[in-house]
This record gives sequence, structure tokens and C-alpha cells, in this order.
Amino acid sequence: MTVVNIIEEAETLNAKLAPLSLAERLSFVAGLDVRVVFTTSLGIEDQVITAEIGNHRLPIDVVTLQTGRLFPETLALIDETESQYDIHITRYEPEQADIAAYAAKYGMNGFYESVEARHACCGVRKLKPLARALAGATIWITGLRRGQSANRAETPFAEYDAERHLLKINPLADWDIETIKSYVADNSVPVNPLHARGYPSIGCEPCTRAIKPGEPERAGRWWWEQDEKRECGLHVGEEATAVAAR
Ligand code: SF4
Repeated sequence: MTVVNIIEEAETLNAKLAPLSLAERLSFVAGLDVRVVFTTSLGIEDQVITAEIGNHRLPIDVVTLQTGRLFPETLALIDETESQYDIHITRYEPEQADIAAYAAKYGMNGFYESVEARHACCGVRKLKPLARALAGATIWITGLRRGQSANRAETPFAEYDAERHLLKINPLADWDIETIKSYVADNSVPVNPLHARGYPSIGCEPCTRAIKPGEPERAGRWWWEQDEKRECGLHVGEEATAVAAR
């Protein structure tokens, strides 16, 4: 299947995936004759996908963005997950020259000072490594769910990522958090201990706080910014550019 074909058939694929189970969705995608990459942040949703990939030995490359600012709990979970599922999680790290240039211009923690500085940091520590991680891939699997935030409420199962020229698959789009937690409990999936301390969404340590009761799941990410649609740049732009199904 060529990239062009996948773009043209994205809407069909979205409809095809909708009635399937998670295992069936992943197996279908893994069976396509293209490079498939799953990016995990080791969050609870991503752990569910990793468990399915590991337990079914699916030919999907599992990668993570080791930004250099992750929580120690997250780093430990990478190792634990590899061990439990006998898989390799490829770490993609920022270039040291980029880190030095960022620090010289903004300061190492300059992301607190402005949205521009924050996006610049995410660009260096996440977006550039993500581009390397997705090089040569036709399909990108993510753990996005509609219930994570208002910004993700319309997340489809399949969409064309025009910026990266690949097909993005969101096999957990219709799962709610209670279903996720049940799967984790029923299947002894290792999860980040920070979830139990009020962190439903976990990113870099300096940019993530616990949420208060009643707050949206992602309220603890870049909490000092006012924009309700704040994201790190990995998953923005779909609404404006996607040509595929909703
Ligand atoms: S989440 Fe924070 S520390 Fe991590 S890359 Fe973005 S701005 Fe930098």
C-alpha cells in the first residue's frame, strides 16, 4: 500500500477500524506492508497499547521520546515495560547542540517565561526527535483518546497527518478512562506510580503537575499557560489539515 493510497483510503480505514476491538485494530494495521511506529509516553493509555503489541508480538516499532526532562518514575517504567513484555523501546533523544543553543537563548528552564520559549523547548526535545523516530514510517500509532481534553474530543481512528505525510492511527480514540483502568487491572499492566498521585497525564517533570478534583485530565500539563488548547506540537493541527475521517 502506497502513501497516496493510504491518504485516499483514510476515511474508509476509519470506518473499518471503528467496530473492531483494540487487538483487531492493531493487528489490522500491523498487517499492512509498511513501517508502523507506535510512540509511547509510558502514560496509562500507551501502556495498554504496548501490552497488546507485546502480548501479540505485533511487528510494530515501539519508540519513546527521551526528552532528558522525564520523571524518574517514567524512566524506570521504560525498563520495567521492556522486561515485562520482552520488547525493545527505542529511545529518541534531543541533540546536545540543540539543547545548548536553547539554553543559551532562553535559559535551561526558559519555557516558563513565554509560550514561544516553551514551544522552542518542545521543538528541540520532542519534535525533532519525533521526526527522526517517524522517518520512513507510513503509519503512526498514538494513544490519543477523545476524553482526554476538549481539544481531542473529535479524535478519529484514522487521519492523515499532512505535516508529517503519514497516516495517524488512534486505536483508543473511543475508550474512556474507566475502560483503560479496567484493562490495566485485569491484565496486570505496569503503570506509572504518578497516576495514583494525581497525575492522569504525564509529560516532562518541570511541565507537569498533579490535577485537582474535577479538573480536565490534561490540566496539569503546562499549567501556567492560559490557552485551553495547549499541546506540545506532536498532535496539533489535525483539525486544520487532516483530510481523513472524523
Ligand atoms: S514539556 Fe517542558 S521540558 Fe519537556 S520539552 Fe516541552 S517545554 Fe521542554
